Amino acid sequence: MQPSLEKLRKFFRLEHENGYNNIAIIGGLAKMLDYWEGDARADGIQEEVIQAVIQRLRSYDGLSPQSRADALRGLWKRIGETYPEAQQKPKNGTSNRRHPTNSVVEEKSEVIEQRPRPEPHPRESVPREVQRQERPQRPAPPPRSEVTPGAKASGTPAALDAKLTVLQGIGPKHAETLGKLGMQTLGDMLYYYPRRYDDYSSLKPIKDLFYGEQVTVIGTIQSVHSRPIRGGKATIIEVIISDGTAGLRLSFFNQPWLANRFKAGDAISVSGKVDQYLGRLVMNSPDWESVEVESLHTNRIVPVYSLTERITQKWLRNVMKQVVEYWAPRVVDALPESTRISAHLPTLPEALINIHFPDSQEKLTAARERLAFDEIFYLQMGVLRQKIDWKSVEARRFPVSDEWLDARLKSLPFTLTNAQQNALKDIRADLDSGKPMNRLIQGDVGSGKTVVAALAAAIVANNGAQTAIMSPTSILAEQHYRNFTGLLTGENGTLNPGEIRLLVGDTPEPEKDVIRAGLADGSIKIVIGTHAIIEEPVAFQELQLAVIDEQHRFGVEQRAALRTKGTNPHLLVMTATPIPRSLALTLYGDLDLSVIDEMPAGRMPVNTYVLRPQERERAFTLLRGQITDGKQAFIIYPLIEESDKIEARAAVDDYETLSKEVFPDLKLGLLHGRMRPQEKDDAMLKFRDRKYHILVSTTVIEVGVDVPNATVMLIEGADRFGLAQLHQLRGRVGRGSDQSYCLLIPTHEDAAENERLRAMAESNDGFVLAEKDLQQRGPGEFLGTRQSGYSSGLRMASITDVKLIERARVQAQTLFERDPYLQQPEHALLAEAFGRFWGEGKGDVS
Ligand code: ADP
Ligand code: MG
Repeated sequence: MQPSLEKLRKFFRLEHENGYNNIAIIGGLAKMLDYWEGDARADGIQEEVIQAVIQRLRSYDGLSPQSRADALRGLWKRIGETYPEAQQKPKNGTSNRRHPTNSVVEEKSEVIEQRPRPEPHPRESVPREVQRQERPQRPAPPPRSEVTPGAKASGTPAALDAKLTVLQGIGPKHAETLGKLGMQTLGDMLYYYPRRYDDYSSLKPIKDLFYGEQVTVIGTIQSVHSRPIRGGKATIIEVIISDGTAGLRLSFFNQPWLANRFKAGDAISVSGKVDQYLGRLVMNSPDWESVEVESLHTNRIVPVYSLTERITQKWLRNVMKQVVEYWAPRVVDALPESTRISAHLPTLPEALINIHFPDSQEKLTAARERLAFDEIFYLQMGVLRQKIDWKSVEARRFPVSDEWLDARLKSLPFTLTNAQQNALKDIRADLDSGKPMNRLIQGDVGSGKTVVAALAAAIVANNGAQTAIMSPTSILAEQHYRNFTGLLTGENGTLNPGEIRLLVGDTPEPEKDVIRAGLADGSIKIVIGTHAIIEEPVAFQELQLAVIDEQHRFGVEQRAALRTKGTNPHLLVMTATPIPRSLALTLYGDLDLSVIDEMPAGRMPVNTYVLRPQERERAFTLLRGQITDGKQAFIIYPLIEESDKIEARAAVDDYETLSKEVFPDLKLGLLHGRMRPQEKDDAMLKFRDRKYHILVSTTVIEVGVDVPNATVMLIEGADRFGLAQLHQLRGRVGRGSDQSYCLLIPTHEDAAENERLRAMAESNDGFVLAEKDLQQRGPGEFLGTRQSGYSSGLRMASITDVKLIERARVQAQTLFERDPYLQQPEHALLAEAFGRFWGEGKGDVS
């Protein structure tokens, strides 16, 4: 297991042993992110996994011990999906995956007798048997013992919930191994999708290969030779294969055991890079796999599954074939026929068969579409349901007059953009609708979401009720506090300074008491803070508006917790994560959407350059020039301290060098995650008040920080950041009317060609970058903390496939309008599958 995962496991276990009190690491689990992120990247951990860890740990501190336990368990499971080796033990008896339809099986199909089955060959008995036969001779019998007595004839969960041990030749050992891969039941197997396919119908003949090419070829082994090299210290095995068009030499270094695995006459498929040796084409240590001759002739597209120890591709494929052939046709399709046909999709059995053993590329594509469609469809049905549930309660009305609102707008230091005005109009209507508002404001960094939220709070305060604003960090909370105070109090404001208060973890206890009292008696109208707001025993007299900033940084539980501080309060969530509209409608379909797609006037796009590490001097020159002009600059580092493993330039070390050697005449501030919140705020405030020319920082400044006088953002180790993060960081500059610059310096010169960095230089548009980001990351992570609600249900659907999403969304909408609670008899199966997909207790996904 990778050291960074090992480390994670260690701390998780410690945390478990400590009863989830978040003391496994001094300062809390989230602290480990500062260095873990870099370690994980150095270990080559997939970006989406890294992001999952970051997301969960960041909000960890704000969770209850029970939610923390759930969060860590969920996270570990998520890691196990990508790194099965990290998963120690499968959880007994519970299926890892939810799939809507897997268990709906016709009762009629249960025709096979069940008798105690001895296990003659516990090891690998299935492959041998199956291999000898044309087709699996005996389908797996359904486990009567596990069928709920009196199960409905509609095809209620039955056979597909059977344990894998009901299968021929699968004993507890194999079942355990498959369990590691997430397969506990027959249904799980149907939904265990291949990782990729080998398409033997479009293989390249060996004679057409050329040097340097990356290919898969199939050939029959002609000869196998093993000889010692380096004076007997190592061995090399040379295998010659031929496909009838030409021969190819394969060399395997230092894997002497392979000599016995290769037999002349066997067919193997090899994948790798074509190399050259003494003028001939060769492949060095290619990936290889034996090919069943039968599958070569019959299935030209062969599934390749993710494996774990103790099982082979061939074995799994054979078991799979047995299960798929018998069970897939018996799965009842819960999707209404009319929906399926109008969406041009194959039936579920057909899709399940073809996802494993496709007859053609076309069928495979259709199968993928169908399975992805289901995921989006159920997701969408769920959010629609959620929405009407929310709208079914009454909420207090907050009418305001045009005169009153105009006066507020006039008192602002700027005119709202059209997009801001539209968002405000939406909110104003929501607040006066008598139903709880559930609105998402989506706007790129710097588009001016804060003022819109402040005006919403003013409307509520004007009617005597309270607003709570929750931000992910105390720096941001403090900034909002200043903004709100500036916008809403004073000459033209409607509130007194004492009516707006800041509540963060660091607020001194006596002051907290005062704030609590003020919230309880209603004298405080607006409270702005971190999750301290929900953690403290805070009671509101009349909380009517809950605002959540940077919503992706909060967990489902935290958002729900804030809402429960009031009675059906209005909810406003804000996000700077730009996603395509149809996608937003699907993922956040439970929320109404206002998009602020316009920047305040006078903003200029940030000029972005990718520099080579040796061009750092140029960056410093530009930076100095800006500072001479009275501007300020950020310098960002990916880590805080030099780690022995990776040569990341570290904020702390470089801060020393920068302030002593490079900019001895300038004032530099330092900001990083290991500082105490008070120190962080202090550094931020000093920078804002222009006491520092340069702020040297890690990514703690990432979200929302607003210092319009800063015009340079220099990012060191830029290749270590994700696209979304880079865009967020860049959003810290270009907030005033002056030209701003973003300078990206990768760790190594060769990373200067990094695709993400190039994308940054090419576009300032958050939407464009988000699309790119989506393409690079898997579906799950994009949903951020929403995943605890449902993204684990998205395995086939790619978030990037906007067309498919739109299709599924429209279908779900249509069906929903006809029968929102799926009460019509023809939707009985669907209702059941829907329940499965959503599971129990997953109600709140705000
Ligand atoms: P974000 O949407 O990223 O939260 P902010 O609300 O922090 O953005 O706004 C970014 C900056 O733009 C702030 O300095 C804010 O005062 C300013 N701003 C907001 N709206 C306008 C506007 N209509 N005209 C000019 N400046 C604006
Ligand atoms: Mg903001």
